[in-house]
Amino acid sequence: MRVLAMAAIRTNELRGTLRQDEPMARHTSWRAGGSAKVFYQPADIDDLIVFLHSLSADEPLYWVGLGSNLLVRDGGLNGTVIATSNLNRLDFLENHQVRAEVGVASPKLARETAKRDLSGMEFLCGIPGTVGGALALNAGALGSEMWQRVVSVETINRQGQLQHRPPADYQISYRHVEGPAEEWFVAATLQTEPGESSASLDLIKRYLARRSATQPTQLPNAGSVFRNPPDDYAARLIEACGLKNTCVGGACVSEKHANFIINTGTATAGDIEALIERVANTVKREHGIALVREVHIVGEGKDD
Ligand SMILES: Cc1cc2nc3c(=O)[nH]c(=O)nc-3n(C[C@H](O)[C@H](O)[C@H](O)COP(=O)(O)OP(=O)(O)OC[C@H]3O[C@@H](n4cnc5c(N)ncnc54)[C@H](O)[C@@H]3O)c2cc1C
Repeated sequence: MRVLAMAAIRTNELRGTLRQDEPMARHTSWRAGGSAKVFYQPADIDDLIVFLHSLSADEPLYWVGLGSNLLVRDGGLNGTVIATSNLNRLDFLENHQVRAEVGVASPKLARETAKRDLSGMEFLCGIPGTVGGALALNAGALGSEMWQRVVSVETINRQGQLQHRPPADYQISYRHVEGPAEEWFVAATLQTEPGESSASLDLIKRYLARRSATQPTQLPNAGSVFRNPPDDYAARLIEACGLKNTCVGGACVSEKHANFIINTGTATAGDIEALIERVANTVKREHGIALVREVHIVGEGKDD
């Protein structure tokens, strides 16, 4: 099936980057995991449409921004990965609105709006993903969340059809977004407010300093592994179980932040997933709380 899907692609019409058996460790912040059978990085939205037209209707599709909330199992992805990083147009509109394509890095959006005296996006400065990932997960920090700023989104389906949608078409909650099936984000129009560049840039500086003091920013990780349960913190519960520095293979619970799992250099996706399970099971046993994962896990295990 995969070979047929590839054969159908008229590669001379494509302007993006097409690879086979691409190690997803290169595209995820944990720097671990298996390969994608097919990996495509479209040059722009028009190129993405051409690529989607070339795929068979049942080709499994996976969308990846900067892979900062993603674990790809060691057996890899038996399908096609669309990597959005070249969909990176950023346009400043009237009424303090900004249209960002999904490959724009969230910290870049925070800085570029701040520089133009637009305020409200500063919270994204330390979230090392893309606008697409922030939309898919309702990324948030410091009391702000992505969808609080969404005026509308633009989506694409596997037939390559584009749509504009209002936030009302989505169910949005803490780090969770549900919308029409088999549609992915390609851009969003976001509402900012008039602000002052120096104040916003100063805020960003302080947010980033706070992060590097409290998070293991020097070692591969994927941010918070679990969502915070109502009225509590996952990190507090994990630390209270004495799990800091617990390791499986090369994956360890961070000493600096108990809700972060770091790759000390040799972790496999299997090590990371086993550690995630160990942490969840221990917290359940000792506190009676079932932690819900924030990170997305995709792909097949080594022995599947
Ligand atoms: C050091 C560190 C700190 C972090 N701090 C925070 C934080 O404070 N707050 C927070 O919310 N998160 C945080 N994160 C997690 C992560 O950065 C965010 O969730 C980010 O928004 C993910 O974006 P991404 O582009 O990396 O998404 P990816 O990891 O590439 O993808 C995540 C999910 O989104 C889907 N997706 C990606 N693009 C699209 C698209 N265009 N359309 C549809 N689905 C798509 C993917 O299929 C996948 O299921 C942190 C991560 C790290 C490593």
